[in-house]
Amino acid sequence: MSPTLDPELRRALAARIRYYNEMGIYDFYRRPVSVHTEEVAAPIAVDEKEIAISINPEPGEQMSPRKSTAVAMPVVVEENIFEAIALKPEQSVSEPVKALKIIREDLGDCTRCVLHKQGRKQIVFGVGNPKAELMFVGEGPGADEDEKGEPFVGRAGQLAGQLLNNMIKAMGIEREQVYIANIVKCRPPGNRQPERDECATCSPFLMRQIAVVKPKVIVALGATAAKTLLAMNASMIQLRGRFYDFRPTGVRSNDPNWDGCKLAVTYHPAFLLRDPRQKGEAWKDLQMVMKELGMKAPTKIPSEQTDG
Ligand code: URA
Repeated sequence: MSPTLDPELRRALAARIRYYNEMGIYDFYRRPVSVHTEEVAAPIAVDEKEIAISINPEPGEQMSPRKSTAVAMPVVVEENIFEAIALKPEQSVSEPVKALKIIREDLGDCTRCVLHKQGRKQIVFGVGNPKAELMFVGEGPGADEDEKGEPFVGRAGQLAGQLLNNMIKAMGIEREQVYIANIVKCRPPGNRQPERDECATCSPFLMRQIAVVKPKVIVALGATAAKTLLAMNASMIQLRGRFYDFRPTGVRSNDPNWDGCKLAVTYHPAFLLRDPRQKGEAWKDLQMVMKELGMKAPTKIPSEQTDG
């Protein structure tokens, strides 16, 4: 039979998690511990230093058990404590506009990674329908987005923003109907690719936005978005052409009926501007998405619309 958690330890653990929550820290990771029944038969001494919480490790990082065996944490029961207490503040709010506002406030004037001191003018949080069925996720703001504070607003005829707008139009919908965000919310200098640690630091906020918006489908635009969201390293050729089952990492929606969504990968509009021959492939990806969403898919590539 599974051992039950000592009430004292349970209280100490709850108090510690609440303390972190009050400091604005919500992401906790459990260190896997294997426990032999005889080790937990006696009441467990509470040493808070030994409570197995680590904050913000690298994505996908596995916590390895420490050598110390001062506290043997029972395996099963305290799962619920983590789920119940490590709630994000927006999870108690049912109105998505308000919930997104809470996440934005939590982000504050973010200085969590180096991008804050590398010339960003403002944080580009995300824009669109807070109840969108379809969400697009790009890499990070460019110069125009940094200027305007909105993702994918590049100038007409040239830049990624305009092409994304045209792709959305080609699907027979308006930009205002979808939600658009990026993996990183601050402009990387010189439009360089965001570093892995910058993506890892920023993406938990995107995960929370996803859990609030609860889309049916996410389209990851380009390799940075795809690899970060899926936590896998593969080429665009390997990643495209199929749906993935996606659940935002480290957060749950407060809607018990939303248990994640589908995720498709397509080329980033900036890449399509450099290699327009791939637009047909991107259009195939979008048609797959339209089918999933029950949207009527035009049979022909709408070249006047997907052209930059
Ligand atoms: N490229 C992106 O990935 N995101 C933007 O917002 C603009 C350009």
